[in-house]
Amino acid sequence: MSAARRTRKRKHSESEVPFAAGFRLPTLKQSRDAIGLSKIPKMYDPGTESAHFKRIPQPISEDDWLAQYNEKGQSFKNFTRTCRWISCRKVKYTRQKFVSDGKNLKQRYPDGKIYLQPLGDFDQLCWDSSYPSIDDLADYTERFYSLPVVVLPAVKLKLPTKKGHVQLRVDSIHGLLRQQIADDALCLIGLTMVDLFEDETDLFVAGLAAGNQRVAVFSFARYDPSLSFSTEHWYDIWPSKQLDPLKKKELVLQRRCKLLVHEIAHLFGVDQCIWYACCMNGSGHLAEDFAQPIYLCPVDLHKLQQLCGFDAVDRYQKLLEFFKKHGMEEETRWFESRLAFITESEAR
Ligand SMILES: [Zn+2]
Repeated sequence: MSAARRTRKRKHSESEVPFAAGFRLPTLKQSRDAIGLSKIPKMYDPGTESAHFKRIPQPISEDDWLAQYNEKGQSFKNFTRTCRWISCRKVKYTRQKFVSDGKNLKQRYPDGKIYLQPLGDFDQLCWDSSYPSIDDLADYTERFYSLPVVVLPAVKLKLPTKKGHVQLRVDSIHGLLRQQIADDALCLIGLTMVDLFEDETDLFVAGLAAGNQRVAVFSFARYDPSLSFSTEHWYDIWPSKQLDPLKKKELVLQRRCKLLVHEIAHLFGVDQCIWYACCMNGSGHLAEDFAQPIYLCPVDLHKLQQLCGFDAVDRYQKLLEFFKKHGMEEETRWFESRLAFITESEAR
């Protein structure tokens, strides 16, 4: 009783709250070991703690992800042992060309593509021009994974015409997506601006992946920075004030990009990350989600490199181009600094 009261008091003062029972924050050595390389090349070198990769912060709310879940963490080695996309057996339900001795997903499934399926009036609901388009998301995803991304024509949704809050049930969309998944799809992601729910008790879900079927659906309905939500259910995620249109566009794009690539990584077998602050960290609520970085930590970068077979410097350069193109200054600074660190050290 008294402990609970203490926690509540600490929550209000926004100081630290304990990690979930049993959770142990990895030491710096454990995080380095999770990268899975005995001699770490500069590309995966986390450097000093203050430079590019920080440790996961202590929770500041009892609703934070690591205040609720005792995550064990997935090292690079765990990933390579369990990822079905780089196993020598073809992934169940896939009906595409398979090269059993390929080293990575790209070589094993040479025709493989990521499909994005807009559900409903995706762009029409973006009532002002400051919203990013689905093509921007596809572009980002392609640069992030170095895999081809295809945007399918939007599917019309029959929504109730009466006024009120409209929500779609995740199950019914999964069924729809499963019926139409292409033979060469690595995954098919439904994207919508309509709110989603999973069962009658849910307020909403941001999305849900059904990994075995390679399909997932995600809603961006709650990712608009000019909206705020009931504090009874959600943190007041943003003051409901007028934002500068350019700043708003940047934030919306950043949030959508982060959500999309995070969820696709889960479909590829990458778990939530506990090693560093990383775009694969879990989140207990939207405010925590929004605060996470856009980049992968060295552990997850190594996993995706193994999975997709990209040249990691080339990938960084492509992502940097994207951030520059969209005026994303913070991201541009981070990627420039990281690239400088890698190339400087390699030249020695
Ligand atoms: Zn990570």
